[in-house]
Amino acid sequence: MLNRTNKSNIYTNKNMSSVSTPEPEFQQAYNEIVLALKDSSLFEKHPKYEKVLPIVSVPERIIQFRVTWENDQGVQEVAQGYRVQYNSAKGPYKGGLRFHPSVNLSILKFLGFEQIFKNALTGLDMGGAKGGLCVDLKGRSDNEIRRICYAFMRELSRHIGQDTDVPAGDIGVGGREIGYLFGAYRSYKNSWEGVLTGKGLNWGGSLIRPEATGFGVVYFTQAMIDYATKGKESFVGKRVAISGAGNVAQFAALKVIELGGTVVSLSDSKGCIISETGITTEQVAAIAEAKIKFQSLEQIVGDYSAFTENKVKYVAGARPWTIAGKVDIALPCATQNEVSGDEAKGLVAAGVKFVAEGSNMGCTPEAIEVFEIARSTAKSVEENVWYVGGKSSNLGGVGVSGLEMAQNSQRVRWTREKVDSELKKMMLNCFNDVVKAAKEYAVESNENSLPSLFKGGNIASFIKVADA
Ligand code: GLU
Repeated sequence: MLNRTNKSNIYTNKNMSSVSTPEPEFQQAYNEIVLALKDSSLFEKHPKYEKVLPIVSVPERIIQFRVTWENDQGVQEVAQGYRVQYNSAKGPYKGGLRFHPSVNLSILKFLGFEQIFKNALTGLDMGGAKGGLCVDLKGRSDNEIRRICYAFMRELSRHIGQDTDVPAGDIGVGGREIGYLFGAYRSYKNSWEGVLTGKGLNWGGSLIRPEATGFGVVYFTQAMIDYATKGKESFVGKRVAISGAGNVAQFAALKVIELGGTVVSLSDSKGCIISETGITTEQVAAIAEAKIKFQSLEQIVGDYSAFTENKVKYVAGARPWTIAGKVDIALPCATQNEVSGDEAKGLVAAGVKFVAEGSNMGCTPEAIEVFEIARSTAKSVEENVWYVGGKSSNLGGVGVSGLEMAQNSQRVRWTREKVDSELKKMMLNCFNDVVKAAKEYAVESNENSLPSLFKGGNIASFIKVADA
């Protein structure tokens, strides 16, 4: 069980002035790792590892820069751009770019910090980084978005390179934005390099990269179901609540449908859609088409024929967790802290058995505690609620980014089947690593409880980074 008695003092690095700066998201991400590690026997068995903690907690480099562009109304705008090059012990810095009005240093430090450990769990050699721009792209034209990307890359191009730092997408940065950013890099540097991943297929991208995060979450969940039920169950017949409506949620939904599950929800920042009979692939396709035009789910449900034929219920201002009826599997795929403690209790009451994050830090500490208690106090294996954090379950995206880098370096292109099978292998290897670490360092007294993937994920990834 989690020991939260020292909650407020967990974040301690007495030499760092930033300790006094409120960075709630970063502190939460840091506390999560410390909590998981300290609640295991890792430091007792190998005291050397504890010394790595304060070192890895400080970014190797933070770059902050001004981004200015002329908007469509002819007015000059300015926004703050960032790249947090967190840790390069395992390879070139690697991690996405987030363009969103909530972007600040605390959020990018949390994401960059998590990226170090997530990337290590892919089994590939990549360091961790994150970057972004504090901007709202909603309602801006393609042309203006291109100017924003060029302005952003004008500065970022000085700090990245195929063997130095390789950004990719994240919230607000999809194929279109990567295209503009890559074009900008080439023109500023007069060089074609695999300096960004998530590129289009015609100019160095990898097949399955857009699908990878969503597919990967589902492959990881499949491994969880298989292990917990000893191969007796699968996605077939399971009711799956998914949040989000972006790239991760869309491809997670499509894979769940392909594997025989029923997708009972999707959501965006304004509300969610609930479907008793299951959201269809046509509806997911309509959402994908509309989201690129920044349409909300509410508009989409009203406007697209796919929704008039097979009705879904739109609920304004709500997240799906407590209103989707019976839920067997929950896949938070929207953003950080999108499942509260109360919602976690609601999910447990709704029958949830598997929770896997497609988003980064999707569950609040309170929610994780609810799931971990439900698991570790289960009276039978069937009663377990099995939670896994995004560092393990959503690494498919950056994993296939790593494969894109490998293809670019070799000047080759792999088939869809090859990338998909590498992705499956990566998710399964990660699952096995995480279970092994939990069994070795997080032994629990309740013989009915499944191994803690929360602790196992943090321990397995930390060992890989610490060894590097
Ligand atoms: N933004 C994604 C993540 O959170 C992908 C990063 C990448 O491909 O570099 O892992």
